[in-house]
Amino acid sequence: MKKKFAFLISLGMAVLAAAGCGGSSSETLVMATNAEFPPYEYYDDATQEIVGIDVEIAQAIADKLGRELKIEDMAFDSIVTAVSTGKADIGVAGMTIDADRLEFVDFSDPYTTAAQVIIVKEDSEIAGPDDLVGKSIGVQLGTTGDIFADDIEDAAVERFNKGFEAIQALSQDKIDAVIIDREPAKVFVSENEGLKILDEEYTLEDYAIAVKKGNTELLDEINEALQELKDSGKLQEIIDKYITAE
Ligand code: GLN
Repeated sequence: MKKKFAFLISLGMAVLAAAGCGGSSSETLVMATNAEFPPYEYYDDATQEIVGIDVEIAQAIADKLGRELKIEDMAFDSIVTAVSTGKADIGVAGMTIDADRLEFVDFSDPYTTAAQVIIVKEDSEIAGPDDLVGKSIGVQLGTTGDIFADDIEDAAVERFNKGFEAIQALSQDKIDAVIIDREPAKVFVSENEGLKILDEEYTLEDYAIAVKKGNTELLDEINEALQELKDSGKLQEIIDKYITAE
């Protein structure tokens, strides 16, 4: 009897898992992300849950849409594919609106502005973007930082799966600099001694939510929900919870 019960439970779990793999249904809102990007998405040390600004924004949108939020953690450069193939409904990953990505996905209205910054060792001779010529630069694979680094003359670009791995390489003098988004940069620098962020920002960019190309119904719903979150002050409240103003 006991055995049969256990079998039924595992069967049920398999069915649930299979349903989950199918991605979107009208009840769930599947969010593709890369939970290596604090304060937007990262694993909380204590609970081992994925938390952060993007998670709370996506949760608030899911609530407004009456759908259950389900998070799929994956490599950053898999997110656009996951959304364009329908494996996920939305990509929320501190993702910058970018012309190349717009060929595969549509973007919502922006929900925040961001910037690429340069991180170096405290005693580095690199003082600004112009000094990056001919240097070895660490980036996270497939990010806008990667795209910018690629354009720097004679630079050797080292691509890492996680931003944090680029930071480690910098700490160990394996590379000269890291180009990465400002807020994660602040978190990584605060957690690693001997590093600094250069004052001059590399670019300004907008983060938005990616949806499957042509899914205007979902896009409109998301934009409407985002507008409500902006108007009510809830969006700013979420951001302020994770980013303290300087
Ligand atoms: N904003 C950058 C981009 O869109 C990095 C995002 C990330 O690493 N999660 O490419």
